[in-house]
Amino acid sequence: MTTPRPLVVDTDPGVDDALALVLALRSPELRVELVTTVAGNVPIGAVTDNARRLLALLAGEASPRLVRGAARPLSGRLATAAHVHGEDGLAGLSHLRDGRGAPLYPSAAGPRPGRDAAAAIVASAREHGEALTLVALGPLTNVARALDLDAAAMRGIGRVIVMGGAIAVPGNITAGAEFNFHVDPLAADRVLASGMRVTLVPLDVTRQVRLRWPAVRRALAGRRSLLARALRHVTRELAARREGLVLHDPLAMALAIDPALVASRALPVRVETAGAHARGMSIADRRGLPRGAVPAPTVDVALEVDAGQVLDLVSERVLTRGREARVAPARAADVVVVGSANTDYSVTGPALPRPGETVTDGTLHRGFGGKGANQAVAARRAGARVALAARLGDDEDGERYLAHLRAEGIDTAAVARDRRAASGVALIAVDTHGRNQIAVAPGANARLRPAHLPPAMRQVRAGGVVVAQLEVPLDTVEAAFRAARRAAARTLLNPAPYRPLPQTLVALTDVVVANEVEAAELAGQPVRNVTSARRAAAALVARGFATALVTLGARGVAWHHGTKGGHVRAPEVEAVDTTGAGDSFVGSLAAGLARGEGLVACIEAAVQAAARAVTRAGAQGAGLRRARRSPADSA
Ligand code: ADP
Repeated sequence: MTTPRPLVVDTDPGVDDALALVLALRSPELRVELVTTVAGNVPIGAVTDNARRLLALLAGEASPRLVRGAARPLSGRLATAAHVHGEDGLAGLSHLRDGRGAPLYPSAAGPRPGRDAAAAIVASAREHGEALTLVALGPLTNVARALDLDAAAMRGIGRVIVMGGAIAVPGNITAGAEFNFHVDPLAADRVLASGMRVTLVPLDVTRQVRLRWPAVRRALAGRRSLLARALRHVTRELAARREGLVLHDPLAMALAIDPALVASRALPVRVETAGAHARGMSIADRRGLPRGAVPAPTVDVALEVDAGQVLDLVSERVLTRGREARVAPARAADVVVVGSANTDYSVTGPALPRPGETVTDGTLHRGFGGKGANQAVAARRAGARVALAARLGDDEDGERYLAHLRAEGIDTAAVARDRRAASGVALIAVDTHGRNQIAVAPGANARLRPAHLPPAMRQVRAGGVVVAQLEVPLDTVEAAFRAARRAAARTLLNPAPYRPLPQTLVALTDVVVANEVEAAELAGQPVRNVTSARRAAAALVARGFATALVTLGARGVAWHHGTKGGHVRAPEVEAVDTTGAGDSFVGSLAAGLARGEGLVACIEAAVQAAARAVTRAGAQGAGLRRARRSPADSA
């Protein structure tokens, strides 16, 4: 198991804060070092008491240091949310009495909490630096103060996860503002513009994660501990409402455990601090910048969420279990491929039809194609454990494809089905000389969204490889690569079919594998032979890719990495069908990289695999289009 990551929680409990705190303390991936309190949902005395009570209930499981923080926002008066959380912040928990009239949940005994939250946060930042995660669940007063004390140390924190704001949805305290930002807009604005590595968790995603009372009751059934009774009490009223108990803070905490639960986008976000009507409103600029403008600091804004997974996590760790926190599921994939899956219908006939012409007497073959699925199959056949994120229609082609992927031993948890678009199809005409014409209808492939990625991204392990091509939307590829980076996996981009790449994607790519045509476009210089291919590979590295490979068909592969470059020959074989050679190469390369082998050794193995593929017409991973008779063939 990996060592737990140090965590600081800044909080104003608060019903959902309480659940988030329990989640943090019960998660083996995290080690809660410090809990700081901030006035918000209720005043500072009450939130600090609540945090002490909760920590006392969990005593024995963990005992982080508790430090009291700001009693009021940076400017103006405190406005609380007692109407939601109850006047004590925990639905009246502090007033419950036992049979003899004694408080059931008395204020915790023991040492009084320290009083300088900002200084304590800075001390943790200095001690742990990059390794530290800070999760801020309330108004950002303490965090802004910590920035005043030592901005450099705060910018050194590995991840700052902030629950707050509303990007494209209404607020929850005014039409425009979310509560935490509304309470202390100055602090929120400072934090977002600070240059810290912020992941913002706005209402756009938190509102999608709702806990309902029947689920709480079921999960807590039979549990009699004081903590279980407290959880039942504090959640009941909100969870029983029609809209359920919205898990704002537990979602933010869940991201400290598993960043891949959301899809996010880098956006500059500011908070209105002075507006008469829009005070506390978060403003994300999605218009892009005019050429030459100075870019504003961005934060990663979570915009889509896998709500079911978050609910499962909260339910398992907070409600169902006692002491024995469940360990995260094993990360099972070496290679995660994000990309297309097409069914290829090819008709081989005497000649290719000209415009307006019909050519008859052809023979139909059906095969499995699409670069994403091809590469997934190739990686699997090279021995990797593979998960594919793709989208198929809710139709026969989709059904057949899914069964095929499963039969190949590929994890399909992230193969989404689309009721509105058909499965991707390629219509191919082939003449007796092997020349072809291809028309593609991407269908569901074009609707693969970042939100479909988590079931695959969750599986990728540190040191694994995430592979993508360009037959699915660019923002989905970017989201996948960002998630890969967070999981410490490598990213491999096959820029096919070619389209211009945003520099953000270049920066997220570790290895680019382009054929001659793509490399010439990307590098902006001709690629005709090994020498020019080596030059293009070097140019691609200069453009920002860590490693660049240019595939040259029968002439092998040119590569460049850092200041080194070279060429690997392809074995001489009798080529029968070179369609999909690049996909075989990419899949095999990814499998090798995930095994931790050196670059040149990986290229050598991939060149062998691709050569084997071109000697066979046939199933995926070999000749992909002119399929040999396989269970998929209808002819
Ligand atoms: P793509 O299919 O993307 O156009 P290439 O044609 O460059 O890609 O092929 C990718 C790799 O497949 C090559 O680098 C080479 O290793 C292998 N390959 C392709 N064609 C042949 C061939 N005729 N003989 C041997 N290897 C080949």
